Amino acid sequence: MKTPQLFGTNGIRGVPNDYLTTEFSMTIGKAIGTFFNAKKIAIARDTRVSGNMILLSVASAVLSTGTDVIYLDILPTPALQYYCKNHKMPGIMITASHNPPQYNGIKAIDSDGTEIDEEKEVEIEDLIFSKKFKNVPWNEIGQYYSDNTVINEYINGIMNVVDTDKIKKKKFSVAIDTGNGASYFTSPLLLSKFDCHIVSLNANPDGKFSSRNSEPKPENLTDLINIMKTKKFDIGIAHDGDADRCVFIDENGNFIDGDKSLSLIVKYSINKNDTVVTPVSSSDALKDICKEKDAKLISTRVGAPIVARAMINNKAVIGGEENGGIIYGKHQYCRDGAMTLSLMLNLLANQNKKLSELLKEIPDYKMVKSSVERKKEWNEIYKDITEKYKNKKMDFTDGIKIYDDNGWTLIRPSGTEKIIRIFSESKNMDDAVKYNNEYINYLKNL
Ligand code: MG
Repeated sequence: MKTPQLFGTNGIRGVPNDYLTTEFSMTIGKAIGTFFNAKKIAIARDTRVSGNMILLSVASAVLSTGTDVIYLDILPTPALQYYCKNHKMPGIMITASHNPPQYNGIKAIDSDGTEIDEEKEVEIEDLIFSKKFKNVPWNEIGQYYSDNTVINEYINGIMNVVDTDKIKKKKFSVAIDTGNGASYFTSPLLLSKFDCHIVSLNANPDGKFSSRNSEPKPENLTDLINIMKTKKFDIGIAHDGDADRCVFIDENGNFIDGDKSLSLIVKYSINKNDTVVTPVSSSDALKDICKEKDAKLISTRVGAPIVARAMINNKAVIGGEENGGIIYGKHQYCRDGAMTLSLMLNLLANQNKKLSELLKEIPDYKMVKSSVERKKEWNEIYKDITEKYKNKKMDFTDGIKIYDDNGWTLIRPSGTEKIIRIFSESKNMDDAVKYNNEYINYLKNL
């Protein structure tokens, strides 16, 4: 199978006016319009400075293919996806997610609301390279409309799949950091509708991300963590730039690893015989939780669209990644930060315990993540590793997962950089470090 050249794991990304010029954005827009050949395409953007430039270039190109464009303004990526699903139309999202502010990107959404798969990306790229675009006569050129009903539709959709009355009764105190990104309006609004007491941080849309880096990592969330350390809030919440991801801080100001929040949310969202999907890179905590609940866990390659597709194919209830990207099937098959925060409030309301107490129920694993430079082709490295460690148990779902006595190590090439990522997990930190070092040293000396 051909692999996409321009599409990365999350659309086509680059620096506007450098790689992502107006001309290139138009070429991509024409290719997407030609590929979908739909009556209408919905389009939205995050808060980045270049958002209008890229969006208008893409939209104009789509109109030239005879497709109407529905403009939805600034929105979280999952809100656009929800609109696409509900209105059965394809979509285009202008976002570079958590990348630094100088970047932007173009992402195509299928008419079922999921991100397009690699095969479709290749088809769009073939059109980009061949320039065989649909070019309609003057009287068939598409029209440009806007629709401002999308936010209510999205928020109501989320509120309908959780126990909203129970959440409301709790009158949670919540601090939320939307990081100047696309959720600046939607997530605080959702929390208001849940009758929470809210302190919103960085809820001013600012495409330069001047308050904090967009990736919701602890080092970027010091303001939120400090607010949580006042111990006046039940929970702290933070999103990335396009709010498909959501991370949490407990009531004492401790950042919660994405693996832990995923395991906790899964634990209280599933029943016996349900199916859960996660990439091979996720913690064994999730495996333990699924075992405890008598649920089936499916491991996939790394990548949210891959998890989403596997969920659809296996009728899974929930799925997700260790970076705070959670997919809830009842709502829609894509990562959704606002849905994730709602599932967390839902379980807090139902369990009637503090977040830190609930986290104690999650099996404690330690993960060490590192990377080394990739000095030769991956298939050669792959051969070397499988030969060298042939006596160990291995899994080849994505890269190579090697099992040792007290844990595992996942070795896989990065899709975007010339590096190899090495994740090691064990119940104790010493073993996780030991395994990680062993494979790093081996890979460095190849
Ligand atoms: Mg994102």
